Amino acid sequence: MSEMAQGIGASFGIAIGKSFVLPTWEWDVPDQRMDPSDLAREFERLYEGIRSSKTEIEYIKNEISELVGREESTIFDAHLAILEDPVFMNEIQGIIQRQYKAAEVAVKEAIDHFVTMFDLLDDEYMKERALDIKDVGNRLLKHLLGAPEITLPTDTQPYILVAKELSPSQLVHLNPKNVLGIVMLLGGKTSHSAIMARALGIPLVLGLEGKLYRPIQTGDLVIVDGENGIVHVEPPEDVLESYERRRDAYVQETDELSKMVSLPAITVDGYELHLAANISSTRELEIAIQNGAEGVGLFRTEFIYMDRSFPPSEAEQYNVYREVAEKFGDKPVIIRTLDVGGDKPMDYLHLPEEDNPFLGYRAIRICLDRTDLFKIQLRAILRAGAFGNVKIMFPMISSLEEVQAAKSLLEEAKVELRQEGLPFAEKLPIGIMIEVPAAAAMADLLAEEVDFFSIGTNDLVQYTLAVDRMNEQIAHMYDPYHPAVLRLIRHTIEAAKRQGIMVGVCGEMAGDPRSVPLWIALGVDELSMSSRSIPRVKAAIRRCSLETSKTLTEHAYASRTKAGVEAALLAGCSQASQSAMCD
Ligand code: PEP
Ligand code: MG
Repeated sequence: MSEMAQGIGASFGIAIGKSFVLPTWEWDVPDQRMDPSDLAREFERLYEGIRSSKTEIEYIKNEISELVGREESTIFDAHLAILEDPVFMNEIQGIIQRQYKAAEVAVKEAIDHFVTMFDLLDDEYMKERALDIKDVGNRLLKHLLGAPEITLPTDTQPYILVAKELSPSQLVHLNPKNVLGIVMLLGGKTSHSAIMARALGIPLVLGLEGKLYRPIQTGDLVIVDGENGIVHVEPPEDVLESYERRRDAYVQETDELSKMVSLPAITVDGYELHLAANISSTRELEIAIQNGAEGVGLFRTEFIYMDRSFPPSEAEQYNVYREVAEKFGDKPVIIRTLDVGGDKPMDYLHLPEEDNPFLGYRAIRICLDRTDLFKIQLRAILRAGAFGNVKIMFPMISSLEEVQAAKSLLEEAKVELRQEGLPFAEKLPIGIMIEVPAAAAMADLLAEEVDFFSIGTNDLVQYTLAVDRMNEQIAHMYDPYHPAVLRLIRHTIEAAKRQGIMVGVCGEMAGDPRSVPLWIALGVDELSMSSRSIPRVKAAIRRCSLETSKTLTEHAYASRTKAGVEAALLAGCSQASQSAMCD
């Protein structure tokens, strides 16, 4: 019986093939107790299991480092750390010592204890740490029980791997030549497994738990549509044929796009846009360069502050910012100051519980209040500015006073650095994000205060339309092509142009090829997006002309509904791809 289910697309591409369903890596552990006189022997068994697990993890780490790179292999450092974690180990030892339970029983109970505890927390990161503990714990159990490793078939035709949950250490055995695609019932887009699937270039759909009427069986024909998050099981002939055509077109398109890396993002009639990458860590630098990023248009620095128990020091931040600046040489790197609050909590700041966190204590509002914290970051950015083409950007600006206050703290930081004799960039360009409707509405006034704008469409859409960007129930109302959003964007760009300052776009809309004519017609200078979107957007720009873009944008602007705006821009896409107007 054929079936289709909608999950989350976590790694691009289309895969079609027979499935292999991975058995769960879980064992029955009978509740055995031992004689108190056997305690020493039981501890020795535990330590021996830990040693074997460590050797195995080291081996996997080296293998993975060769397969997908050193960065991905650091996941296994986290696994080694769990085996040395005193809290985890004390829990196991305590159960053996106090309850005289066998080592494998103690390990199983400790895993259950920590996994349940982390799963209860409403925190994606902690849930992923629960997965790591399960993975390490099961490896340890495997050694204690002398159970065989569950391995993937290597001698069959390439297959679609189906698993309830896939741990990074299981992924290590994947050969992209054997595994066409992956279907995972659990997991999040930012889980380590998803990161690795993307690094390996294997299409992945996850989050399908409870969405399939019948579990997928080994041997079922499966289609994985990693772009739209769709899985088909035993598809009808017409669906299969249409996906085969899409898969072939996708492979061909990816090949052609990769040839574009060194070409400029220029329209047929000579209008050039600067394409930059949005990054959150230095790990993403290589991939940004591989995709042809001409700089960084948005460095989301808050990720340096997250998943830790104290804020990063000036030296730590300076080293990170300097590495990014040096990597791009004279190409611009826009460092955005801390944007926490909203959907990005941070325990050690002890932020108050809020009814409306997105409308609350967030980003620049926190920084202007916690100047101690802010100054450290300002100093680090200024100092890194001495090593490249660094610019600073303030998020969530909603008034002129906020810009002035931030600028005056930046000046204070400069005075301090001068007094201390530390080198820094005296003339660091200053920009603000236009992501609150108030800022867009008064863009003409703000433009007089800064060197550049960057339009943050993610927040601008949520605040303009009063649609929470995290709320699935109203996700259909979250529309970047709403006429109200279009008007604010145009007003912002025109204000920047009148003042002669640079204007970029760094929200997700910048990475949507449909919006390309809009940016060209309105005169945007830079688009910054997730690195993997760059080649596709560049291709769209190279197919367009300034003249066509202006016509399309006029049509879009004259539309009274969001459907009308989208239809006008989409007409441009189809015309461009049919070579009628743009080629
Ligand atoms: C935005 O709001 O568009 C943006 C780029 O910032 P973030 O997604 O980090 O809020
Ligand atoms: Mg934002």
